[in-house]
Amino acid sequence: MDDHLIRSARDAIGFMPADEGLALYEAGLEGALHGPLLEIGSYCGKSAIYLGAAAEERMTILFSVDHHQGSEEHQPGEKYHDPRLLDPKTGKVDTLPAFKETIVKAGLENSVVAVVGDSSSIAKRWERPLGMVFIDGGHSEKAATSDYEDWAPHIVEKGILAIHDVFEDPNEGGQAPRQVFDRAVRSGTFEEISRCATLRVMRRTGTSL
Ligand code: SAH
Ligand code: MG
Repeated sequence: MDDHLIRSARDAIGFMPADEGLALYEAGLEGALHGPLLEIGSYCGKSAIYLGAAAEERMTILFSVDHHQGSEEHQPGEKYHDPRLLDPKTGKVDTLPAFKETIVKAGLENSVVAVVGDSSSIAKRWERPLGMVFIDGGHSEKAATSDYEDWAPHIVEKGILAIHDVFEDPNEGGQAPRQVFDRAVRSGTFEEISRCATLRVMRRTGTSL
C-alpha cells in the first residue's frame, strides 16, 4: 500500500489498528476483483483509507455507510466519546466533517463515496451487487445481526465478507460480531479465508443465506 496512504490512515481518528488495516486492504484487493466495496461504519474514515486504497488500485469504488451520529459508546459520557467530534451548534456527535477531512487529506475523493444514513434503510433499497461488504457499524446484537442479514445478500459469488471486532474471549469485547461471524460460517455460504487480530475475512461460496 502507498506510503502516503499508510501515513494518512495512521493519522486518522478511529478504531482500525495498522495490522488489521493492512489485512483489510488485502481483503479489499480481492473483493474489488468482483465488484465495488462497501463498508458499514465510516466513523472518521480510518478503515475507509485502507479499503479506498484497494478500490482505487482496482479502479472501482468504496461506498462508506454511516449516519455519522456515532454508536452508543461514542456518545457524551460513554467510554469511546471524543469531544473533538461534537457539533458546537447541536451539541451532538457528528463525524461527517472529520470523515471528509480524512478522505480529502488522503486524496481518495474519487474512490471513496460517503453514503450518509441508517445502514438498514440503505441496505433495503440497495440494488448494486457488491464485491465486498465490511461490517464495522453498531455492535449491539440487533445492529450487528441486521447488518449481516441486510447486506450479506448483496455480495456476489466469490465476493468478500469481512467483520471487525470478533473477540474469542468475552472478557475482551462484546460478542455480537462474533455471533454474526459464527452464523455466516455455519450458513455454509461463507468460508473463512484469513484472519488478523479481531478481523475475520470470508469468501462467499454459496447462494443460500
Ligand atoms: N470503521 C471505523 C470505526 C467505525 S465505529 C474506523 O475505521 O475507525 C462504528 C460506526 O458505525 C459509527 O461511526 C456509527 O455512527 C456507525 N453506526 C452505528 N450504527 C449505525 C447504523 N444503524 N447505521 C449507520 N451507521 C451506524
Ligand atoms: Mg471496529
